[in-house]
Amino acid sequence: LSDRLTAALQTLTRKGRLSDADIDATAREIRIALLEADVALGVVKTFIARIKERAKGAEVSQALNPAQQVIKIVNEELVAILGGETRRLNLAKTPPTVIMLAGLQGAGKTTLAGKLALWLKKQGHAPMLVACDLQRPNAVTQLQVVGERAGVVTFAPEPGNGVGDPVDVARRAIAEAKHAQHDVVVVDTAGRLGVDEELMKQAADIRDAVDPDEVLFVVDAMIGQDAVTTAEAFRDGVGFTGVVLTKLDGDARGGAALSVREITGQPILFASNGEKLEDFDTFHPDRMASRILGMGDVLTLIEQAEQAFDQKQAEKAAEKLSSGQLTLEDFLEQMLAVRKMGPIGNLLGMLPGAGQMKDQLAQVDDKHLDKLQAIIRGMTPAERDDPKIINGSRRLRIANGSGVTVREVNDLVNRFFEARKMMAQMAGRFGFGGGGGSKS
Ligand code: GDP
Ligand code: MG
Repeated sequence: LSDRLTAALQTLTRKGRLSDADIDATAREIRIALLEADVALGVVKTFIARIKERAKGAEVSQALNPAQQVIKIVNEELVAILGGETRRLNLAKTPPTVIMLAGLQGAGKTTLAGKLALWLKKQGHAPMLVACDLQRPNAVTQLQVVGERAGVVTFAPEPGNGVGDPVDVARRAIAEAKHAQHDVVVVDTAGRLGVDEELMKQAADIRDAVDPDEVLFVVDAMIGQDAVTTAEAFRDGVGFTGVVLTKLDGDARGGAALSVREITGQPILFASNGEKLEDFDTFHPDRMASRILGMGDVLTLIEQAEQAFDQKQAEKAAEKLSSGQLTLEDFLEQMLAVRKMGPIGNLLGMLPGAGQMKDQLAQVDDKHLDKLQAIIRGMTPAERDDPKIINGSRRLRIANGSGVTVREVNDLVNRFFEARKMMAQMAGRFGFGGGGGSKS
């Protein structure tokens, strides 16, 4: 994959602008990358369609070449999907919080129970584990062992009582947790090798008995394409409120994460990455995105390119400011840069002591900025570069072209000249722009 992608990137890099054909070509490579990461085909299709849409509407970046730009969009979209609704564990208002684990056999539920217990304990909770997997002879012992390692209590049916009923065990466990003041209960359940009706029914019965605050669907990241059918079966059979991905220490690229998230819409809360109790973390969408794409280095490069560009731009602007050479083009650029940070009102809110200024600047709302932007866009490059040449007939043309009145164009031009003068004075006084002194 990487070779192929790199090749595609190089073709793109050589071109100056992003054409539909460029986007299609990169999209094809991204598609292969996703399939190789074991993302389900249906999910790949909708994802790619969304990416193409966004790439075609995107303004050409000055910091990035077109290939980098497409990759950046893909990465952003992946992070958004994987983490769109990242949230914490849902804790019950009245303890105990009940967390039920569900998933196929071997997914890593019992191991996860121990990891969760340790993690919860470190956060000051007093968790209790409950053994509701009475299917396999060793399952109870296995849970007791991880419980001991985590240093927490495990509730299990008394030995010698035959197989036992997991629903009954679950019910008694909740009563015991209340009695012994455990504030979180983690219920381990049985799994089968494949999706199976009896298993689903048992899980649903346990669910009804314990009324969980969270049902976590535990899924092995190595499962790949099968993640979709398994997730759908558990969604329909038991229902779940969150996902835990396990075995991320393996070499799976993690496409299952994207598939499960897209298909079920449920958030991924945790990631398991090893057999030890400590090999466990909250889920990080950005790490998963670059793992799925398989291009961590490329993403770092993109970030660096953008930072370098911002730095260069800021220096250039400061220099122009202090020398009174600011053009309308710079003005537009600055305006766009500021607007990238969000609505102007939010920005003002973040400034200390912006209270009074806020009212004055309330008129500088986003609609007003839209208008300013439209006016500047209606100018020729020469006019933006040297606004002094904007005479009466030019003003009329600009006004007509950008759908505003001549007066509004006048306003903008006059205010620009004033602002430029003022900024040059200020820059001189505060000494930015390399201490060029005060020329105005
Ligand atoms: P369960 O059947 O869902 O309860 O799964 P288990 O917790 O018994 O785990 C099945 C196997 O996977 C065990 O050998 C675990 O040690 C192993 N396992 C669980 N989680 C991880 C993980 O994150 N990484 C690795 N490498 N192995 C894991
Ligand atoms: Mg188990």
